[in-house]
Amino acid sequence: MSKNNIMSGALGMVFSGTLIGISICISPAATAQSKEPNPKDPWTPTTIYNMPPVASLTNGVWLKGDLHLHSRHSKESSNNPVSKIINFCKSVGVDYICITDHDNHVDGDVRNNTWADPEFKSDSVLLLYGAEWTTNRGHANVFSAHPYDHQRLYFVRDQRDIVIQSVVKELGIHLSANHPMGPKDHFGYSYDMLSSMEVWNSAVWPKNVNALLIWDDMLSSGRKITGRGGSDAHHGVPDSPDKATPNSKQATANYVGTPTTWVFATARTREAVVDALTNGRVSVSANPFAPRIEFYADLNQDGKMDMMMGDNTIPTGKPAKFIVRLTGKTVADSTYTISVVKNGDPFGTYKTTGKNPMIEFTDTPATQGRTYYRVVVEGPSTPYPQVPVSQSLSGNMVGLSNPIYFNFDPNF
Ligand SMILES: [Zn+2]
Ligand SMILES: [Zn+2]
Repeated sequence: MSKNNIMSGALGMVFSGTLIGISICISPAATAQSKEPNPKDPWTPTTIYNMPPVASLTNGVWLKGDLHLHSRHSKESSNNPVSKIINFCKSVGVDYICITDHDNHVDGDVRNNTWADPEFKSDSVLLLYGAEWTTNRGHANVFSAHPYDHQRLYFVRDQRDIVIQSVVKELGIHLSANHPMGPKDHFGYSYDMLSSMEVWNSAVWPKNVNALLIWDDMLSSGRKITGRGGSDAHHGVPDSPDKATPNSKQATANYVGTPTTWVFATARTREAVVDALTNGRVSVSANPFAPRIEFYADLNQDGKMDMMMGDNTIPTGKPAKFIVRLTGKTVADSTYTISVVKNGDPFGTYKTTGKNPMIEFTDTPATQGRTYYRVVVEGPSTPYPQVPVSQSLSGNMVGLSNPIYFNFDPNF
């Protein structure tokens, strides 16, 4: 049924209702309109005069990780014990992960399952505490630097959003929507309870395009929600051929790091990783060896960068210079295409080649209202020999940045 048909069907139902019902609908009190927001309403938008200062652009370390992984504690996973995941991370230089097993498989008790696994420890890979909140209305991951009471979140999964949001706040956890676009298990909760969302799920890039639409809608409406990646890998390479399952071939197509989420953390700690995620100092790359996207702005054009992706400030009213840089191993003699999105709309497309690909553009963020810029990079795919089939699944999608924000209400 088309949208129009649904609309006319609904109207038909209204008009077949009783006259009393209709007269209530058009009573003068109900149609009285406010010409502008009531200044007494606590949520009325006000001019932002104060914004926390932008954090240091140099005091930190880039860390790469995967924020959506299933081990043997998720029932449908195969050949994927925790130790195999951690050893693989070490072999490809992944700095942090969150093993996010389905909580419904253990009635919410991740503390006595994934986290209690004797293999859940590492002296080099930072292991976040978390799980995949697996509900009838969608899935979300929790990322925490410390153990928390996950069962409280599990028990309220069917409650109204206002109840769930209060539990998320009380637990002090970072909640992040998974594969929000569906088609199966789309995120059917309020986005107000989120700190981030998965805008790139698994090596199969094309299925994520609608996640970007949702993200832009949330950003445009003033929600400063970080975009992040997650492989959602369930299956490891079998230790011997007789251990293979029908899903084992997935291990060569989608595994740790497809995609990779980079965070600019103030330290090599779990706390700093979660903070960087919350603050949006984050970009996503197709795999751990693909170039990392860095996105900066020079507000007074003195040649010194003043903010990076995730940062939010009050515009000066003057033109700002923006720089997009690809760092790490780029594919030699290749052209990268960088698309800039401003407030959900295409702003410009730029090409860059060479050993250290970089582009610049200039724009004047409006002094009134919100503005954000984010970038998407396409180009040659980077080989990932440890997960060889992933390269063709990600295609020419190299990576994406989080936005640089202006005038976003920090108290929203
Ligand atoms: Zn899921
Ligand atoms: Zn999952």
